[in-house]
Amino acid sequence: MAGWRENVREVEPYVAGEQPKQTDMVKLNTNENPYPPSPKVQEALERTAANILRLYPDPTADELVTAIADRYNVIKSQVFVGVGSDDVIAMAFLTFFNNPEKKPVLFPDISYSFYDVWAECFRIPYKTVPLNENFEICTEDYRQPNGGIIFPNPNAPTGLAIGLDAIKEILDANPDQVVIVDEAYVDFGTDSAISLLDNYENLLVVQTFSKSRSMAGMRIGFAIGNEELISCLMNVRNSFNSYTMNCTAIAMGAAAVRDEEYFRETTQKIIETREWAKKELTALGFTYPDSKANFIFASHKSVAAEEIFRKLRERHIYVRYFNKPRINNYLRITIGTREEMQKLFDALKEILGAYN
Ligand code: PMP
Repeated sequence: MAGWRENVREVEPYVAGEQPKQTDMVKLNTNENPYPPSPKVQEALERTAANILRLYPDPTADELVTAIADRYNVIKSQVFVGVGSDDVIAMAFLTFFNNPEKKPVLFPDISYSFYDVWAECFRIPYKTVPLNENFEICTEDYRQPNGGIIFPNPNAPTGLAIGLDAIKEILDANPDQVVIVDEAYVDFGTDSAISLLDNYENLLVVQTFSKSRSMAGMRIGFAIGNEELISCLMNVRNSFNSYTMNCTAIAMGAAAVRDEEYFRETTQKIIETREWAKKELTALGFTYPDSKANFIFASHKSVAAEEIFRKLRERHIYVRYFNKPRINNYLRITIGTREEMQKLFDALKEILGAYN
């Protein structure tokens, strides 16, 4: 009976940031959007509750798929939706990275810490590719033999983005492998690889409604790629569960993606707050890679990150601390509202002042 246990016991589960229950806090630890979703989302919820909540959801999630296809100028058969981009990426690991030759999937070290967990869970061989000393992804490192590639752009938790030319280099060097660009944070100032899809059949772009569309709680993610990749994803998905999205997620997601004006307004506010926050952090003695995401990955010149993390927590201000080699002197700070960030900076002044 012990045989099965060894497989699963070794898996180290993904540890997401804390979701504290208190209400009087400044929550800057899990990269959520500080603004509510579009008012159109609330309307869609009310309509759904009144009319279709009693029915099973549309297994094709057509309303949401159509809204995404329209927004990104692709056809519906190029869109795959799932329960958060975590679900979409998990399906993509199963679909594309389980190659019979057991060649390793490549992803950066440091990057989203869920990739190795999925690889372990699905017993997919993987190899991590170190970032350079400035935390950058180096495209030439992705020329080695592999069974697929995934990387976030912008990367997490560094916030650094690579340009479309660099993505093209990776795609050109790996024409026979599926290359997944995880664009969870792309809307905060990075060019999306969706514009490359016409030229690359091996490209899959994954995005989420959790960040720029303020809907982390609703769990909506999607992938866009060529029709063949999407139909392979569907084959794997449909073998598990054809009712992936619930009817409120379908209607609310479609409403959110159609409200372009609100999306632009709120993402712009976050970008402006981020750029202001960078200046404040510099003035306080922090350094950081030049983030293009809705968070900043910052290290203080003289006070340990863990110490700052703990003292902020005592003041009910939550940021993210990773106790991992190479990044254990960094804090990942989500961009909140300007008021929330001001509270953070006031607290940091107090905390750091004690060390002067
Ligand atoms: N990719 C990256 C790089 C992320 O940071 C996250 C969020 N933690 C996700 C994917 C998953 O987001 P979600 O499942 O909420 O869509």
